[in-house]
Amino acid sequence: MPDTLRQIAPNVWIYPRDEDPNRTQPNVGIIVTGQHTVLVDAGNCPRHARRIMIALDDIEAPAVSHVIYTHSHWDHVFGAMVFGAPVIAHETCRRQLLETAAKPWSHAYVQEEILRFPQQEASLRAMARAVEDWRNFRVVLPEVVFSKQIRLYLDDVLLEIEHVGGEHAPDSVIVRLPKQRVLFTGDCFYPPPSYLRKPDDHFDFGMMQTLLRDDIDWVIDGHGDPYDRATFSALAQGKLNP
Ligand SMILES: [Zn+2]
Repeated sequence: MPDTLRQIAPNVWIYPRDEDPNRTQPNVGIIVTGQHTVLVDAGNCPRHARRIMIALDDIEAPAVSHVIYTHSHWDHVFGAMVFGAPVIAHETCRRQLLETAAKPWSHAYVQEEILRFPQQEASLRAMARAVEDWRNFRVVLPEVVFSKQIRLYLDDVLLEIEHVGGEHAPDSVIVRLPKQRVLFTGDCFYPPPSYLRKPDDHFDFGMMQTLLRDDIDWVIDGHGDPYDRATFSALAQGKLNP
């Protein structure tokens, strides 16, 4: 279980995912400015989020001031209640999470969902493992939404958040820090979620090439290792196996 942050650039860190695919844990981006800490995604459960809080203490980061959801999938959202910070996301993300939040979450409910949607069993089992205690659980809805893009100026750090959509999730957004030359993509260039995936589905190479602007040196995706520019570029041209 990696409890150490990895620094990517000035102001930018990640809390790296657990590499065990059965845990369905995403990388969480951390942007620290003078007065603010911004998270890119919220962790997949309150326990994961609490570990992130401890790691933030270790680097004496300011209190979390904003959380950005890259998209509405549970593994990027279900830790948010721990941070008590306003969430920014695409307007479609809010709409989808209104439905997620209305479900009667409990261990019994997740078991019923597995029977109703056997093709989603792997993801639901990972959810059941992640969320130990549903009693006080709640889905935090985005309170700042946008349709195309939004810019945040926090101290001397600029964050550009932009809707890109894609096959994986229609509400996918990216977070770009031009000065730090870092791009967070969430899962935007991935194929659809595994239960909807067809055997010949692959990364969206066209989208990846568009995302790699000249001002980007590092790409952080949802569930992989950080990519330097050369590696991401090779991947986007289909020269590397994901
Ligand atoms: Zn996803």
